[in-house]
Amino acid sequence: MAGEPQADCLFCKIVAGEVPATIVRETETTVAFRDINPQAPTHVLVIPKVHYPDAATLAAAEPQVIADILRESREVAVEDKVEDRGYRVVFNTGAGAGQTVFHAHLHVLSGRGLQWPPG
Ligand code: 5GP
Repeated sequence: MAGEPQADCLFCKIVAGEVPATIVRETETTVAFRDINPQAPTHVLVIPKVHYPDAATLAAAEPQVIADILRESREVAVEDKVEDRGYRVVFNTGAGAGQTVFHAHLHVLSGRGLQWPPG
């Protein structure tokens, strides 16, 4: 059923505590943890506890949870003391945009100069 944990999903396993991760914050609806292959000094993934393959399907089904994720991205920036410096939030959506894990997640990046446009 939509939103239910998927047995073969890495991020569902992190939500369940079955795969270890460096958790930064957790709320009723979200988990934020450090990316295993950080692209910046701050590189945290904020994910919904519910399973949807990408941000678009999550937004369509449970828009409040997208709002929760965005609110949490700011809390991550506060936690890492980069709110004043600025930070980038990215939902890679679809393989063509670089998405490799098909459980919706928001990248929060900061702590170095970030170029625009991204590669
Ligand atoms: P995507 O490419 O789908 O937008 O982002 C997936 C992210 O998940 C990548 O930045 C990748 O480094 C991260 N990642 C993949 N496997 C793991 C893992 O087992 N643990 C953690 N913490 N991050 C992971």
